[in-house]
Amino acid sequence: MVGRSIAALVILLFATHSPQAAEVSVSGIRIGGNAKSTRFVIDLDRQVPFSSLLLADPYRFVIDLPEVKWEIGLKGVGSGKGMIAQYRYGLFKPGVSRLVLDLNGPAEIKKIFHLPPGRKHGHRLVVDLVTTSRASFVEAVERSRKKRRAISVPEELQASPITRRPNSKRVIIVDPGHGGVDPGALSVIGVPEKKIALSVAKEIRRELQKSGKYLVLMTRERDIFVSLPKRVEFARRAEADLFISVHADSIKNPRVSGATVYTLSERASDKEAASLARKENRSDLIAGLDLNGETDQVTSILIDLAQRETMNYSARFANFLVPELKRHLTMRSNSHRYAGFKVLRAPDVPSTLMEIGYLSNREDARRLNSKQGQKSIAVAVAAAIEQYFTSVAAEGF
Ligand SMILES: [Zn+2]
Repeated sequence: MVGRSIAALVILLFATHSPQAAEVSVSGIRIGGNAKSTRFVIDLDRQVPFSSLLLADPYRFVIDLPEVKWEIGLKGVGSGKGMIAQYRYGLFKPGVSRLVLDLNGPAEIKKIFHLPPGRKHGHRLVVDLVTTSRASFVEAVERSRKKRRAISVPEELQASPITRRPNSKRVIIVDPGHGGVDPGALSVIGVPEKKIALSVAKEIRRELQKSGKYLVLMTRERDIFVSLPKRVEFARRAEADLFISVHADSIKNPRVSGATVYTLSERASDKEAASLARKENRSDLIAGLDLNGETDQVTSILIDLAQRETMNYSARFANFLVPELKRHLTMRSNSHRYAGFKVLRAPDVPSTLMEIGYLSNREDARRLNSKQGQKSIAVAVAAAIEQYFTSVAAEGF
């Protein structure tokens, strides 16, 4: 619903915990071996507790460490070798840093152990992988799932009501895409989508706060992973009037550039929108969440009447947003498209997702990474929001 009078507002406290002192450092990652037997080594400055987890479909191996400082680059992604296709690293939740290894096939963890400093290297966490059958991998996944359940409960929404809505300010949620162990799209200039999305989101918040009319909340304020359901839940609990997700795309053709605005739909407007939604919906999988059999999201969804009304408002906001963005940046053709994005599925909060450009295009990437480029997007979003609320207010909302 839009603009209902809300007596109480819950401001949620999650993804905003003050960062703990990152005491442990990861100074290197080394991979050796071949397609049958592979060793993955993490260089650390001390011995740390760890836990691990196997996941199927796709084959993944997850290692959780205490919150660490990554001294191996900000990209959050490294290329693999042997049985490892690729690996990612980053903050998973407050206090927990995570490594996710994408495996080329079913693997068995032969050994995982700590090595004390030797002649050449300091403390190391070593994982030895060997190939195995799909059947025994799936069995190991079950075992690891049971063991893990005993160690840590899956992340729950850590919401605590801390204040009441000061007056009838509109509540806007700005949602920087990706974060932490999920870097999002990689850019030709080396800055990942997660970082650009966060900077743009902060700029939007700054712009919106100028008017004093809005209460602006963000789903994350630092480089940390937040699951898609958690983002939706955040908006719902805050009884938000509007949810704006900020993303940037990447594509094979480096010449393609421009922004696109997306809203939720049962059926995607076109093939490209469908495949983009599929890509964005993979975030939880990329971060090594145990989706328990839930594989790739289908891009068509079932929608009820209440959500249909909300979707009308989402589309209406998009209609204000597209021309405003057009004033400042290049837009793709069909600049308003539809698809089944998981993050846009709050049934009662009008939600829009912006792909603000292509990180695979040098010019777009540079612009999106610049203060000026970020500011112009924020100005456009703020202007669209102003128009949108004026229009819904005229109808008594
Ligand atoms: Zn994205």
